[in-house]
Amino acid sequence: MAHESILIADDEPDVLDLCQRILTAEGYRVEIARTGREALERARESFFDLLLTDIKMPGMNGLETAQAVKETHPGIICVIMTGYSTMDTAIEALRLGVDDFVLKPFAPEDLSMSVAKALEKDRLQKENIRLRSLIPLFEFNKTLLSTVDVDTLLQHVLELANKETQADLALLFLSEGEEFGEHTYSPLTVQDSQSQSLRIELAGWITQHQGYVSLQRGKPFQNHFEALFEDLDVEYLVGLPLTAKEGQSLGALVVGKRAEPFASSDSEFLQVMGGQAAIALENARLFQEIQQAYDELRKLDHMKSEFINIAAHELRTPLAILLGYASVMAEDETTSLDRGRLDVIIRNAMRLSSLIDDMLNLSYLETGQAKLDIEEIDLADVIQEAILDTRNMAREKSQVIDVAIPADFPILLTDRNKLDLIVMNLLSNAIKYTPEGGRISLKAWLNGERATVAVSDTGIGIPPEARDKIFDRFYQVEDSLTRQHGGIGLGLAIVKSFVELCQGQIWVESEVGKGSTFTFELPLRPSL
Ligand code: ADP
Repeated sequence: MAHESILIADDEPDVLDLCQRILTAEGYRVEIARTGREALERARESFFDLLLTDIKMPGMNGLETAQAVKETHPGIICVIMTGYSTMDTAIEALRLGVDDFVLKPFAPEDLSMSVAKALEKDRLQKENIRLRSLIPLFEFNKTLLSTVDVDTLLQHVLELANKETQADLALLFLSEGEEFGEHTYSPLTVQDSQSQSLRIELAGWITQHQGYVSLQRGKPFQNHFEALFEDLDVEYLVGLPLTAKEGQSLGALVVGKRAEPFASSDSEFLQVMGGQAAIALENARLFQEIQQAYDELRKLDHMKSEFINIAAHELRTPLAILLGYASVMAEDETTSLDRGRLDVIIRNAMRLSSLIDDMLNLSYLETGQAKLDIEEIDLADVIQEAILDTRNMAREKSQVIDVAIPADFPILLTDRNKLDLIVMNLLSNAIKYTPEGGRISLKAWLNGERATVAVSDTGIGIPPEARDKIFDRFYQVEDSLTRQHGGIGLGLAIVKSFVELCQGQIWVESEVGKGSTFTFELPLRPSL
């Protein structure tokens, strides 16, 4: 069943009635007018797909009526009813923009067929235009996807809008807070012209109106913008808002023509293009914001690295001197100083020294200065040494440390200093985060061509949401204000980087309140 709407104009009531009956029976929505003027009024009040008009009418004839209605609805199809005597005028009418004619007298099916044919022809034409506009839109889309530079994007939008609608100028207004920034594509020097405030006003009106607008020079209700037509030297202007996904207004696109009015296909094209341009613009703006934030972050990160590097270097020398003197004094058998107090100084200076080492290691890793120094290593040695170094810490907390390494564990080719630091850090963390009387175990086994080491504890555990983050620099599960354990949150970040530098990997399994297991795997022989 047809659903289009048809306006019929004829001064003969019988013909009018007959046409109305035939077309209503076909399912069209039909309205009638007895004169050309009345038809024009109806067309101003509502939208019609097709005008069927008698050629000879008193007052405005069929051709004049068709032309006047087309001015209001450029997309309407006009079919003229003519007899043999007015055939010449009908042919002339076709030349002047009428779409088709029906010869009177006609049988009902002739009328139905002519109307259906005219509507179908129009539909195909529109479809054709839509398909044709898909090609530039497709190309445009590719460009939009490949550029995140706002200026390049704006230039593409302006160029395409201008080219595809055969316009003489295109203007793009981007909302910048309360204001609009204007971008132009035109052979005219629009930027310097007089009407800037009017142009901005037009952009504001379009964004508020939130729809496609069409303006023509000399139309009474558009008086306000008359100076704009003058200044831009155009007869027709169309504009549409650019709206972001969440309905937020990004700005407006305005296109102007000097000679011919815009076709209805131009409006379709501009609206589809405007929708895509708005998405691309929004993405480009977001990308720019992210880029700025990222640059800012990089600057801050660089400053932080510089600070760590300088601070660590500046602290290292005076600390080495303090430690040196304290050790000499502690070794002096003849000294009358309190040995217990000297030990406290030395122990704390060593802690400070290991923190500074962490800071320097981080700095070397960040600047890419950390290198592998490969040698043959007995893993059991490394583990025993780490246990020896942390023995006092574990003893103070009455913890038991178990070790299980197969006696025939092969020699490992890796960097001794890095492996020492990895094992030492994992072991001292296990001790630190395990309450009194807990159990720590170190196990090693072979997994093909890889050595696997697991350090387990019966400590406080790590909540699931923190497990990925503990390997980040400075991340600590406990809040720094209520923190019960020492450290600056660099140990695991360095451990992970060193394991990866040695071509291995590390992971953690944990249960809050029950304990944690840190496992790392290294190749027996790294590929060089
Ligand atoms: P630090 O120990 O200096 O804070 P790390 O980088 O060595 O820094 O560890 C980061 C965080 O991971 C620690 O602050 C702690 O919250 C958590 N963590 C590390 N090892 C363990 C462990 N064995 N048991 C529980 N939590 C741990």
